[in-house]
Amino acid sequence: MAVPKGKISKQRKHTRRSAHWKLTVPGIVECPQCHSMKLSHRVCKKCGYYDGKKVMEVSEN
Ligand SMILES: [Zn+2]
Repeated sequence: MAVPKGKISKQRKHTRRSAHWKLTVPGIVECPQCHSMKLSHRVCKKCGYYDGKKVMEVSEN
């Protein structure tokens, strides 16, 4: 609904805008292997596991 700009306080405007801000990106899950945060449906970069199997060699330094 259109409301005159001056009718909305800075606090109210800020509250409305910040309400749509997502804190975490969707699709980030915890790796069941090493329990670090990883992208869903992607091979874990930390341990190289996907779906319970090792699919990638990870160099540990
Ligand atoms: Zn992992």
